Amino acid sequence: MSALFHRSCTANLPVADTGNGCYLVDTDGKKYLDACGGAAVSCLGHSDAAVRDAIRDQLDRLPFAHTGFFTSQAAESLAELLVHHAPDGIARMYPVSGGSEAVEAAIKLARQYFLETGQPTRHRIIARRQSYHGNTLGALAAGGNMWRRAPFSDLMVETSHISPCYAYRDRQDGETQEAYGLRVADELETEIQRLGPGTVMAFIAEPVVGATAGAVPAVPGYFRRIRDICDRHGILLILDEVMCGMGRTGTLFACEQDGIAPDIVTIAKGLGAGYQPVGAMLCSARIYDAIRDGSGFFQHGHTYIGHPMAMAAALAVLTRLTDGQTLPRVARAGDLLHSALHDRLGQHPHVGDIRGRGLFRGIELVADRATKEPFDPALDLHKRIKANAMQDGLMCYPMGGTIDGQRGDHILLAPPFIVTDDQIGQIADILAGAIDRAI
Ligand code: PLP
Repeated sequence: MSALFHRSCTANLPVADTGNGCYLVDTDGKKYLDACGGAAVSCLGHSDAAVRDAIRDQLDRLPFAHTGFFTSQAAESLAELLVHHAPDGIARMYPVSGGSEAVEAAIKLARQYFLETGQPTRHRIIARRQSYHGNTLGALAAGGNMWRRAPFSDLMVETSHISPCYAYRDRQDGETQEAYGLRVADELETEIQRLGPGTVMAFIAEPVVGATAGAVPAVPGYFRRIRDICDRHGILLILDEVMCGMGRTGTLFACEQDGIAPDIVTIAKGLGAGYQPVGAMLCSARIYDAIRDGSGFFQHGHTYIGHPMAMAAALAVLTRLTDGQTLPRVARAGDLLHSALHDRLGQHPHVGDIRGRGLFRGIELVADRATKEPFDPALDLHKRIKANAMQDGLMCYPMGGTIDGQRGDHILLAPPFIVTDDQIGQIADILAGAIDRAI
């Protein structure tokens, strides 16, 4: 009998024992090919020597120094490297310990920015329906995942949710991709007008939607229109790259492929690659300067922000991601994964869509390909697929997302960037079998 409070009180989980390359091994010696990095975390696999050495060195030199008293060389170097590679205009890094914390910091920074620049009426956030921004109350309020929000709705601030950019489901017959993108982006304009432009502080979105919709990128032009609308109304654009950032889509930041730069961007997961719990919020010089020249103090913080060991791990990960070889490899392996999934599942009667960028791919399952009707949520199809895949030694990330308030079934794939061509073939084969046995 376990004394551990597992998130699922009924799950009977194997005990992870060792990690090696793209594999995890349990205490019975069973190997699992990691095709999802847990939740898009383990971008460098499970035994990266440089990251482990960096953590060990940091531990030997300095395990902890509170950021109220000291800065650390690891934190300073990480900030410099991140800002150097960040989208245009990003000038500062605020370290945190994970994705939800990064989003909380982003929301509070946006609010403080408007307070310090004499615009106290700006307090509203607009987000999108198919979105997830974390499980803490502020981040949960921003997210649009109804299933996760429902039990806590009384505790959360009200947030407006507009349509996501989800071409597979929402593009109308005869509508071009571009026209579709502009139509849904313009919902932001409508919502700003409805709320009153002077009350809105930020729009938050994931450039490639992860946990609620399974690797859905926006169509070309969508985010440029979003950027224009935010600029026109003086609203901050927060991009949540907690899942899709840090090279996952083939560029360090996913938004590079949309040709825009945010005012604030959040990252986590791949930043620590699973070696340390770490995240960051990055912001523009304009925002940072407003705080510096105003109160001079960001009124937010947690004990473990900027933990030297987390910073050292993230610095080693980022050094690898920016070595000029790793990201082109992600793009090439991503194309191969996409082709393998198409070959194996493209004609499957219950596979509605295969999508994504780089090594961030999603498969949407449907009861009927012609009508795109989702499966009955009571079937818990995604859970059965996960169980089958684990039985066959494959980790994938199936989820019941929300499709306009309903549950839908998606599988998210986010293998380590070191995945081999052979392993990509195995992922497609094992997954196809796991899906077939579940339906
Ligand atoms: N934002 C996005 C886009 C995410 O996918 C997640 C987690 O899945 C979070 C925020 C929350 O991150 P964490 O679980 O590290 O708190």
